[in-house]
Amino acid sequence: MIEIAGVYALPLRTRFRGLTVRHGLLLRGPAGWAEWSPFAEYVRPEIDAWAQAAREAALEGFPAPVRDQVPVNVTVPATDPESAHQLVTRSGCATAKVKVAEKGQYIAEDVARVEAVRDALGPSGRLRIDVNGAWSVPDALTRLQLLRRFDLEYVEQPCASVEDLARLRRELARRGIDLPIAADESIRRSGDPERVAELEAADIAVLKVQPLGGVRRCLELAERLGLPVVVSSALESSVGLRAGVALAACLPELPYACGLNTSALFTKDVTAQPLVADRGAIAVRDVELNETGSWRADPTTAAWWRERWQGVPA
Ligand SMILES: [Mg+2]
Repeated sequence: MIEIAGVYALPLRTRFRGLTVRHGLLLRGPAGWAEWSPFAEYVRPEIDAWAQAAREAALEGFPAPVRDQVPVNVTVPATDPESAHQLVTRSGCATAKVKVAEKGQYIAEDVARVEAVRDALGPSGRLRIDVNGAWSVPDALTRLQLLRRFDLEYVEQPCASVEDLARLRRELARRGIDLPIAADESIRRSGDPERVAELEAADIAVLKVQPLGGVRRCLELAERLGLPVVVSSALESSVGLRAGVALAACLPELPYACGLNTSALFTKDVTAQPLVADRGAIAVRDVELNETGSWRADPTTAAWWRERWQGVPA
């Protein structure tokens, strides 16, 4: 039996993915707290996988961990260079993921932001960029030429389609450019994650627990893909992040820092002890919902989420 614990509204420090406030539904089952927070514009059947992940957390809990902490990156939104620099310095993380190719911004702004982040990390830090599929193959080739000098660990979803990722990957190899490609949207939104492996379109798989239907499903997918995995959040509260941490904690190998330090992007959380990084890593532990906290959404928003939840098959 799963009960609704509430609907949260968490303000973001900086606009992220077009959002200034993140909303989601919190649930409670015999195995613990769970989160269901597909983005507002998502509809069925896509949101059913998110519900499956929530049911797993509430009813079954998570597989046994093989590590007790998970290294994470600091996530840098498409902000100005000074803010980016500060964010990275304050984070204590040795790896940064920088959002680039934001709508309405120029490549010069991306270059300035990436340069600031490299400066903040120092030469030994790892720096990856996330394009969210915004570039064509020719755009990617010119822009990566400009950004590559900041020593990129990898580029995440430079182009939108799996075919273009594969084309870009071949073109980079042909030019002797050693820059791994990570697939994110191509795995969680294409409806056919295995195509990434079939077309050899990526070197790394970004897995997100909610869109892919839970921790166990992600483990199976990771095995089928045969690629190193970076576990990332879908911008969840700490309750949702707990599932991502569980996945990262039970993968046989974890060669890259994960994108799970996103509670730091909110001004508050649904727990008194948010899952945030301490010296670049998040401890693997359970999260206790603060039921009297100030995270609750207004009644209209809450009603919308409850109704939305009723609309997914049990
Ligand atoms: Mg991404």
